[in-house]
Amino acid sequence: MADGIVGEFFDLKQGAEADLLAMQMGDFYEFFGDDAETVGAELDLKVSKRSSGGENYSMAGVPVDDLTPYLKALVERGYRVAVADQFEDGGDIERRVARVVTPGTLVDPTDTDARYLATVVREGDRVGLAFLDVTTGQFRATAVTGPDARERALTELYRFAPTELLPGPELRNDDAFLTRARERVDTTLTLHDAEAFAPGRARHTLREQFGAAAESVGLDDASGADAVATRAAGAALAYVDETGVGVLASVTRIGTYDPDEQVTLDATTQRNLELVETMTGAGQSLLDTVDHTETAAGGRLLKEWLTRPLQRRGELARRQSGVAALAADAMARERLHELLSGASDLERLASRSVSGSADAGALLRVRDTLALLPELDAALDTERLRESPAAGVLESVDREAAADLRETLAEALAEDPPNTVTQGGLLCRGFDDELDELVERHESALEWVETLAEREKRETGLSRLSVDRNKTDGYYVQVGKSQADDVPERYEAIKTLKNSERFVTPELREKEREILRLEEARGELEYELFRELRERVAERADLLQSVGRAVAELDTLASLATHAVRNDWTRPELTDSDDLDVTAGRHPVVEQDVEFVPNDLRMCTDTDDERRFLVVTGPNMSGKSTYMRQSALIVLLAQVGSFVPADRATVGLVDGIYTRVGALDELAQGRSTFMVEMQELSNILHSATEDSLVILDEVGRGTATYDGISIAWAATEYLSSAQSNVASPKVLFATHYHELTGLAEHIDGVENVHVAAEERDGDVTFLRSVVDGATDRSYGIHVAELAGVPDPVVSRAREVLRRLREDEAIDVLGSEREGGETQQVVFDLGTGQFSGGGRRDAPPDGRAATADGGKDDALDPATESVLDELRGTDVNETPPVELLAKVQEWQSRLEEE
Ligand code: ADP
Ligand code: MG
Repeated sequence: MADGIVGEFFDLKQGAEADLLAMQMGDFYEFFGDDAETVGAELDLKVSKRSSGGENYSMAGVPVDDLTPYLKALVERGYRVAVADQFEDGGDIERRVARVVTPGTLVDPTDTDARYLATVVREGDRVGLAFLDVTTGQFRATAVTGPDARERALTELYRFAPTELLPGPELRNDDAFLTRARERVDTTLTLHDAEAFAPGRARHTLREQFGAAAESVGLDDASGADAVATRAAGAALAYVDETGVGVLASVTRIGTYDPDEQVTLDATTQRNLELVETMTGAGQSLLDTVDHTETAAGGRLLKEWLTRPLQRRGELARRQSGVAALAADAMARERLHELLSGASDLERLASRSVSGSADAGALLRVRDTLALLPELDAALDTERLRESPAAGVLESVDREAAADLRETLAEALAEDPPNTVTQGGLLCRGFDDELDELVERHESALEWVETLAEREKRETGLSRLSVDRNKTDGYYVQVGKSQADDVPERYEAIKTLKNSERFVTPELREKEREILRLEEARGELEYELFRELRERVAERADLLQSVGRAVAELDTLASLATHAVRNDWTRPELTDSDDLDVTAGRHPVVEQDVEFVPNDLRMCTDTDDERRFLVVTGPNMSGKSTYMRQSALIVLLAQVGSFVPADRATVGLVDGIYTRVGALDELAQGRSTFMVEMQELSNILHSATEDSLVILDEVGRGTATYDGISIAWAATEYLSSAQSNVASPKVLFATHYHELTGLAEHIDGVENVHVAAEERDGDVTFLRSVVDGATDRSYGIHVAELAGVPDPVVSRAREVLRRLREDEAIDVLGSEREGGETQQVVFDLGTGQFSGGGRRDAPPDGRAATADGGKDDALDPATESVLDELRGTDVNETPPVELLAKVQEWQSRLEEE
């Protein structure tokens, strides 16, 4: 049996609800036994042995000051780590588990991203969610209802991307939900005490924390519509309390939000549009592109805005006017950027003050950031900005309280404090009388020692005399060998060295004791005063948070304005109509890299000139996907309150943006299957309303051609309300199934546009301009001709095409049936089906199907994706090494088949 330290470790471990225990022993946190092995392997730490009770135990340790990065690495790998701190109680050392660190409750001062802990509970068709960022005190709850509540809850989870998720008791066995949540969000699932989710208990927890404020935001409900939100919020709070991270007091307020006021962006859409990360991980996301924020908090807010576009006209107009005013005032904007670059993360500093982890440097940053307020005011006091919402952002800040706190800190803190908080030097003179007196006595005692040598030399007449101090001897008088015999009687020898002798005097001993006493008293008092100061800051956590949020908002608005000016973006007009009218629109990310060809987009729902559903055709690589994504991004940016990449834009507000990229394009990136494509198509067909914008890119392409056409055809009919009487969403549908262009003739509101390409001197030039009408269907045949496909094939292809267009039967060359008649096939534009020769759903052979460029017969998707990339590769533009790598990659992908 282990005893002593190791025994204590195992006892503590047993009582802690954690995977690992870090136990403080002086300047180290130690792990023992299996924990040491685990930590050693995960963090590459040296594991040694310690014997205890006749057995050997593994042991690994990290320095006390270095614990946070190790904790972070461990919780990111999914471990819960209990931390037992060492307390000294009248000479006795005692150890207690002070906190349990989990992914959602880790406070790491070096991190700038939001770190959300999420709770989710379900009652029937109601799902409640709460999101709490312990590092900033941001706390929000909501409820989603309806038959698709679980789906909508997943959308919210994806928006917040929590690092830790606590499902309530009802959801713990809901494998489908939990699996999908984890597919979409890289999160750790924690099964927390079910009691914390109980309605009465949750309500009580919220009341304790927020008092009447909980009620005023509607989270006081144990049984009504918001009961699920109340339960989720209460459980989140209880969990943070229980893990003991000590930041509870920085959770100063809770807000609820209504997902219906936001634009629905399902997880797939957020990913497809590459809002905050790209699909491949390489290149720039929208956020990367438009982010000119100076502060970490500004960066967090910008990300939040981009992933949560709004339907609220008033709020959008406010943001727009703020951006417009800042965009128009270059000088003020520059000044703001300059000032903001000196601002620290007040929300973070608030929780660090509350949890007691803020050092003197952190409080100095609080002081300096608060000191920016008057300067920000001055910067905003210009003709253009004074009355604008940009200046209005700071209005909510309690200036007086901010100035008071700043002054308190300015009066208290020394200018250049050390990194440790226990060794003095933190506070300045004049802050505390008692401290001043101690400091004065301390310094005069030191001065006495410093001048002692002079005095002794004078008195004794010994020239080779000095006074010094070291660890073993303390203070001493040192006299050169030759004079050592002449020292006065009060000198007491303590050490003989080669060339000198060391002495102390009773007086010096007395001074030494005094100095030590004063040093200790000064350090203790200073630390005490510093803690009081930090507590005063902690008490103003709400103030810091409100200043922090205001500064973040200013930063975000300035960032949007800066991007708009640098890239010639325009302020979109927002309307409640269904119109979408963009002149010379661009793709916000692609325009950064290439000479971009701007394109118009016009969709409207007037009955006489209805353009609700655009079928976008054009050769491969011509720019279809880019055009559709840019359209979605323009709408999204407009509903963020940003300017948009266009010369002019009128945007009818949408309630949701849905995108689906055909499985083939996704397959190329190894991310998707046809099944997933269809599930998501199904989700869109169910969820999109007449106020939604739907982007379908090559949907149906992940299966064999005729399957694909049929699905695309039917989905088009459904979405364009040909089959139903419900008003349909605005849809952009890119397809290489030219057959679908025929729909425009049959269904009102469906129109064709295509991306133009031109052939000149045997070269194909992509013009990148989107024009009305369907692609010239002979384009593909033309390419075949250019590529040297034999003449008879080309002319036969033209013949087949002509007949297809005219809905004529095509006789199949060279295949006589038993009865002697020619086999015939017709593609019926009215039904979207091939028919004839007794075969209704498949072409007679590859030939008819290859009429349109020869690329659509049923190759397997992976092969087709390789071919697509091969076609899309510009040999002259690609460096040889890259080409080589591509070819190797293609070969290996083909071999996998
Ligand atoms: P498609 O979907 O038709 O196959 P993409 O939209 O993927 O084509 O476009 C292919 C490439 O063409 C893009 O990577 C982009 O660099 C370029 N591109 C697309 N649209 C434009 C444009 N309007 N101006 C300039 N380049 C463009
Ligand atoms: Mg494409």
